[in-house]
Amino acid sequence: MEQYPCDKCGEPVPVKLKIRKYPGNIEENYIQCPSCKEEYTSFVTDDWARREQKEVRKLHERYTKKRSRLSVHMEKLKQQIASG
Ligand SMILES: [Zn+2]
Repeated sequence: MEQYPCDKCGEPVPVKLKIRKYPGNIEENYIQCPSCKEEYTSFVTDDWARREQKEVRKLHERYTKKRSRLSVHMEKLKQQIASG
């Protein structure tokens, strides 16, 4: 697991997200130093942000697939013209 030194005490902080809920379905995702208990907010979401996150992940997946299909295709074309 990734670790970063704590700004406060210098001990390693594992990047293990914890969630704290706030009114309005707002969620704070944070990590906490196991030594001094200092908290570091990673990101905060609401319903809309979580839907968008899902959408962005989906689009990213599509993008990755399309890009790899495209590069396979272009590689074939390259070989095609090379072999005459
Ligand atoms: Zn600390």
